[in-house]
Amino acid sequence: MEFADYPNESIMNIIDRPEIIFVKGEGSTLIDHTGHAYCDWIQGWAVNTLGHCDAGIIRTLHHQAQKLINPSPAFYNLPMGQLAELLTQKSHFDRVFFANSGAEANEGAIKLARKWGQIKKNGAYKIITFQDAFHGRTLATMSASGKAGWDTMFKPQVSGFSKAKLNDLSSVKALLDDETVAVMLEPIQGEGGVVPADLFFLQQLRELTLKKQVLLIVDEVQTGCGRTGYLFAHQAAEIKPDIMTLGKGIGGGIPLAALLATENTSLFEYGEQGGTYNGNPLMTAVGYEIISRISHPHFLKNVQNLGQILSEQLKNLSDKFNLLGERGVGLLRALLLPNDTAFQIANIARYLEPKGLLINAVRPNVLRFMPALNITEKDVCEMIHLLDTAIEQSMTK
Ligand SMILES: *Cc1c(COP(=O)(O)O)cnc(C)c1O
Repeated sequence: MEFADYPNESIMNIIDRPEIIFVKGEGSTLIDHTGHAYCDWIQGWAVNTLGHCDAGIIRTLHHQAQKLINPSPAFYNLPMGQLAELLTQKSHFDRVFFANSGAEANEGAIKLARKWGQIKKNGAYKIITFQDAFHGRTLATMSASGKAGWDTMFKPQVSGFSKAKLNDLSSVKALLDDETVAVMLEPIQGEGGVVPADLFFLQQLRELTLKKQVLLIVDEVQTGCGRTGYLFAHQAAEIKPDIMTLGKGIGGGIPLAALLATENTSLFEYGEQGGTYNGNPLMTAVGYEIISRISHPHFLKNVQNLGQILSEQLKNLSDKFNLLGERGVGLLRALLLPNDTAFQIANIARYLEPKGLLINAVRPNVLRFMPALNITEKDVCEMIHLLDTAIEQSMTK
């Protein structure tokens, strides 16, 4: 097939896509319409926990599709209960609501916090979020996000969100008032450029929010589900947030997200929360397959080890080319560039021969790495080799 024959004229233009049509994926490799292979370090945007077309996911989808796809969200189904139970066993949360996207799970978290404020805190409704945060693309989650320019896009915003500075407790304290109901943050700002919240900051935040009777919400859409080498990133700080959202990795490529709450904060009454596809067995069966596999201590240890290896190799690359180092946790990492060459490098990497490399220029001067969590050391070496070539070429151009 030629790209010229592809019916792209009917697709709504929301992003500048390269003229590549992906037709097949296997593990860490993607194949395009010309048969060209790519080493995939984007993985559906940190989504494909177990790589492309994992045999266990295929089997689960196949078996579940033959049994039951959707009985309606108003009835129980087996995988929904089993996945909810597994998630509560593996965390300190008590209740789970399933959604279809991270943004939808975060909308649920915002609603739940406001509900808590109505019942327990005199109608308090304000939520403190952070500069450069990313919580999704619905109106409320865009308002909660701290991305530059998003405050005027589609104005007016949903009100009630004020922005503190990550890792700066006094900036949170300055925004706290009687109408504050929650503080909401990503343990690592993913879209913001892989910027981790310090573990000590998370602990201080938990202490402060408990003292002020304010909920702590962690958006673990990107950091959850093994990505950092912990099942959930906040566990590294040994804190217990009141509400957590999951997305991306929990579905391993299929649309699934979750809103988790402690018993005290799980306050929705009948009719206040829902969604046609929520908890459907086809998606929750896959979620169960993923969480049961990635929650093994061995699996998580391996993510930590590979994160270490990736970190060292990125550091070496940084030294070799005089870059500004690397950062991140587990297999969510970034390489910091001295100039705004991230897009150029990602572009060159994509078209390398005989095999391309897919990496994300998350900021003009930051490259992000979000591979499948079951990669091997060999995959890391292959990626570093390709990246080395791409950086070299970008410097001689
Ligand atoms: C991707 C992401 C979201 C939004 O998830 P969608 O499934 O795209 O709606 C929300 N929060 C964080 C931290 C994310 O990385």
